[in-house]
Amino acid sequence: MDNTQIQKLIVDQFSEDIRLRPMSGFKMDFSANPGFKKIFFAASCDCETSALLSVEISEEKDDNEIQAAIPSLVDRLERQERSFRMMDCGTHSKMRTGFHKD
Ligand SMILES: [Zn+2]
Repeated sequence: MDNTQIQKLIVDQFSEDIRLRPMSGFKMDFSANPGFKKIFFAASCDCETSALLSVEISEEKDDNEIQAAIPSLVDRLERQERSFRMMDCGTHSKMRTGFHKD
């Protein structure tokens, strides 16, 4: 399973209030964590601040194990998205200077 397929499985399980865009073709590696695929999503606010969210999944997992891991990845992304949305826009504007890991 490649990153795009994993992203699709994740998107299919998001709750309706979650506003995350799958990010594709993202070659930059922030954490350089070998042996893990990184799946990126972008959260955005009406104030035009965006945050890059990501989850990792071991390269060693086979397709069935990936399927089994999807709900916990969805849960992690939803929590990251909600905490981004709960920040006020003053905090958002401070984030706009750059992306932060998690
Ligand atoms: Zn905002």
